[in-house]
Amino acid sequence: MLLEIKKYPDPVLRKKAEKVEKVTEDILELAQSLAETMQKEDGLGLAAPQVGQLKRMIVLMVNKEPKVFLNPVVVKKSKEKETAEEGCLSFPEVFLEIKRPKTVEVETTDVSGERMRISAKGLLACAFQHEIDHLDGILFIDRAGFWQKLKFRFLKK
Ligand code: ZN
Repeated sequence: MLLEIKKYPDPVLRKKAEKVEKVTEDILELAQSLAETMQKEDGLGLAAPQVGQLKRMIVLMVNKEPKVFLNPVVVKKSKEKETAEEGCLSFPEVFLEIKRPKTVEVETTDVSGERMRISAKGLLACAFQHEIDHLDGILFIDRAGFWQKLKFRFLKK
């Protein structure tokens, strides 16, 4: 099912999401809907709070396939940082240069309940950090530097 994406400044985007304790039918349905919605919108990632569901669930394009991750946590990040241009489905037509750790390790569970640890770099590392931030109500504009924040002020008018 396609879901409506909440756009900034919808207050739900600032809320903290709850842990997914159990993979139920509802959770599987939400996972599928998130994946479908992300693909329809040509996104690279989508987090459940962006469709108004306060669950710790994200979907990311990995090797051109949508993959769902439950309760993802960044457990390690590199000191080295990298700047890349980011967009967000909750901020149509806004693209900002954001600096983040270059590589991260993420602990997560897939929809079959299997725990895993993923090492990510490049675009995937950036996407994991961006989407996991959404689960804590953190948005990419919060990570932007001074000039990028200023750019955003102009873009949103
Ligand atoms: Zn986003």
